[in-house]
Amino acid sequence: MKKDIHPTYVNSKIVCVCGNVIETRATQAEIHVEICSSCHPFYTGKQKLVDTAGRVERFRQKYERARKAQEKAKPESAAKPSS
Ligand SMILES: [Zn+2]
Repeated sequence: MKKDIHPTYVNSKIVCVCGNVIETRATQAEIHVEICSSCHPFYTGKQKLVDTAGRVERFRQKYERARKAQEKAKPESAAKPSS
């Protein structure tokens, strides 16, 4: 190997937010990730929503409002004579 052109290659820990730690070697001693092979739905086979910033919750609220509005509108539309 040529001198002074290679980055230092150290023992590294990849730490996931789920608590999983993978030990490997890299140029950084510690790497933090949000998702890994032990918690990603693809590998677990479980349906899990990766919810960032409560977007799923916001969608649910929006959906609920739309559903209620539809229920309100229903008796009105039923009362209308359908040809
Ligand atoms: Zn993980």
